[in-house]
Amino acid sequence: MDLKNKTVIITGASSGIGEATALKLSKEGANVVLTARREDRLKSLQKKIEKNGGKALVVVGDVTNKNNYSHLVSETKKEFGSIDVLVNNAGLMPLSYIKNMHTDEWDTMVDVNIKGVLNGIAAVVPTMIEQKGGHIINVSSSAAHNYFPGGAVYCATKSAVKMLSEGLRQELAPTYGINVTSIEPGAVSTELTETITDKEVLKDMKSMMDDMNPLEAEDIADAIFYALSQPKRSNINDVFVMPTQQQ
Ligand code: NDP
Repeated sequence: MDLKNKTVIITGASSGIGEATALKLSKEGANVVLTARREDRLKSLQKKIEKNGGKALVVVGDVTNKNNYSHLVSETKKEFGSIDVLVNNAGLMPLSYIKNMHTDEWDTMVDVNIKGVLNGIAAVVPTMIEQKGGHIINVSSSAAHNYFPGGAVYCATKSAVKMLSEGLRQELAPTYGINVTSIEPGAVSTELTETITDKEVLKDMKSMMDDMNPLEAEDIADAIFYALSQPKRSNINDVFVMPTQQQ
């Protein structure tokens, strides 16, 4: 896909991978729609993109709220007229050991990491079918392949996203021209670990991270751009990217 003047919605654009992806894709000519809950962060990213000569629309919203998604879709069409790509990136990782019973955090992970992704899909697929094409990028994780300490629920949510992506691809790509890609990064240096409240996990994570040079958010933005920039006949199903030093 040539991204020039294409419309790309990016969830979780207020930091980390989403922010880096918005910058990368706007530099490649896409009109980007930035959504997340922190408006101040989205507005400053919008300014940065516009300063670089790009076009960005901010629509504040929570991915767990279906009404927010209807608003996002109508604002996007009003501003740019189409929805060519959805980058389903918003996610949380409050890791905890099962025995410590952080059950509210389990619920939040299921709500944001799985239901939030489904809400995004439900919001854009009718438009993409009408347009006879599009591309959905779901940000899964290496956690869909490997368990790590405190990750039982998080890994389960990311496995769900990986499998969902394959189902979507089989149902949507051949018939409707909607390509689907699952992005599966290992450790990336972002704010993601800031939601961890389980002290045991935090201690174990620290010793793991001290021994490793993680990926940067820009590395994943490049992987997303790679998947999007292939010819239409080529569907990149999975992109699994690990830091060189991560096991
Ligand atoms: P960040 O914490 O930097 O970004 C997470 C983003 O998700 C933020 O923009 C946040 O915005 C948004 N978000 C969280 N909850 C909601 C919600 N309810 N509604 C809307 N937006 C929400 O972390 P990353 O950039 O690392 O994470 C991006 C994705 O990458 C996640 O899905 C994560 O699981 C995945 N990933 C990350 C890895 C890593 O090592 N960092 C490795 C593998 C995958 P706001 O708070 O403003 O709403």
